[in-house]
Amino acid sequence: MIELEHISKTFELNGKTVEAVKDVSLQIREGEIFGIIGFSGAGKSTLVRCINLLEKPEKGRVVIEGEDITHFEGRRLREMRQKIGMIFQHFNLMPSRTVFENIELPLKLTRLTEKERRAKINSLLDLVGLTDKAQSYPSQLSGGQKQRVAIARALANDPKVLLCDEATSALDPQTTHSILQLLKEVNARLKLTIVVITHQMEVIKEICDRVAVMQKGSVVEEGDIVDVFSSP
Ligand code: ADP
Ligand code: ADP
Repeated sequence: MIELEHISKTFELNGKTVEAVKDVSLQIREGEIFGIIGFSGAGKSTLVRCINLLEKPEKGRVVIEGEDITHFEGRRLREMRQKIGMIFQHFNLMPSRTVFENIELPLKLTRLTEKERRAKINSLLDLVGLTDKAQSYPSQLSGGQKQRVAIARALANDPKVLLCDEATSALDPQTTHSILQLLKEVNARLKLTIVVITHQMEVIKEICDRVAVMQKGSVVEEGDIVDVFSSP
């Protein structure tokens, strides 16, 4: 489904070169929940941002459903990005827009009629359990509710892949659990492939099928959860 082949990415920072990702290859299977765990600065975010080309890898190839997208630009890049939703640690909602309007934003670029759009937003609100918050503003919501809005927005274009960058890191354990259960539910119901970046082992153990461990830009271990976390 997603193949990352020999991906490398460096940044220039104050005259110094940071090797954020060093020759990483990974294969993520259709329909699985794949975890990437590692300390802050390990390169997780940079690697995952290469999947939707928010970062352009300097070396290597990104292949999605058999298609090499590494050099996509313009319309092809925009269409590809619609198939890949993303959520973040700090939710990235528009503060001046209601919950309804936040979810509507990605749908404005589509050909849906007003009525179809409204039906779609209402079904997304139902999916994430926020029907009664449609007219609230982000500042009126708890952290978990904000992340639910972000999930609804990320799913608006019916993506095949959802990238989650530290999506539960700003939440308390109980809220984390409920968001992870929601991700598990959308994975099963929508046959969505999910990539989860985290520094929290509990998150990986709760929902992931397979995991890669990153350290200093490299993948140092990879496999089924049971194998990776039972090794001495
Ligand atoms: P993680 O997600 O594991 O915390 P990141 O991918 O965010 O790791 O960062 C990996 C390394 O790359 C870090 O040293 C970070 O400071 C650096 N880095 C990431 N993005 C940039 C950027 N836009 N400019 C400069 N350095 C960056
Ligand atoms: P993460 O949750 O992945 O650790 P960060 O807070 O490290 O995210 O990074 C947030 C944003 O800042 C990302 O777009 C990343 O590419 C960028 N970034 C990270 N480290 C640096 C850095 N040292 N210099 C400039 N930009 C950075």
